[in-house]
Amino acid sequence: MALTIGVLALQGAFIEHETMLQRLGVRTVEVRKPEHLVGLDGLILPGGESTTMGLVAERWGLVAPLKAWVRAGKPIWGTCAGMILLAERAIGQKAGGQPLIGGLNVTVSRNYFGRQNESFETFLHVPRLGEEPVRAVFIRAPAIVEVGENVETLARLTGRGEEVVVAVQQANILATAFHPELTQDLRWHQLFIEMVEAEQRQDRLSLESAERTS
Ligand code: GLN
Repeated sequence: MALTIGVLALQGAFIEHETMLQRLGVRTVEVRKPEHLVGLDGLILPGGESTTMGLVAERWGLVAPLKAWVRAGKPIWGTCAGMILLAERAIGQKAGGQPLIGGLNVTVSRNYFGRQNESFETFLHVPRLGEEPVRAVFIRAPAIVEVGENVETLARLTGRGEEVVVAVQQANILATAFHPELTQDLRWHQLFIEMVEAEQRQDRLSLESAERTS
């Protein structure tokens, strides 16, 4: 059966993610209300503006359901602003802070690449995606400045004279500081789909063993 992946569609670059997923044969759902999460196999939090996205999510009653999604170990991928929302800790937030969903054991610096360079493109070396370098589009992008336990670094980049982390995976959570949906390279979306499929196999196995023991 085809997978169904939701894309949080409150603000930002959600249509581009849908297009990429559809090219890979995945059914997509635009998530604006908690009930849209029902029946989804995976979820993407797109780039945009994390403060706005967080506030709108709060107003629409989505923060608690999204936190529950992450806590339940369901597959989720945050790109750029979406990565900020998933971080356990953020620096450089607007005064008064901003609602975060959390779950990803990292510290993000919200506009790390913002002041220096509003937007730029580069090629990243990502062993997980193969030999060929991956084109990456950074738009007022955050960076991960501290990686906690159980978080695997997938890509690094030198910014402001130091090396920072720009892509990570922690179990069912994928996070990228840049925008793979603004390129033609489908490899990140393919990786996320593989995470979703792995989770489904896991679910089937636990269901089978529960049936055997009942
Ligand atoms: N730095 C932005 C923020 O705080 C994110 C930018 C982006 O998603 N392109 O939300």
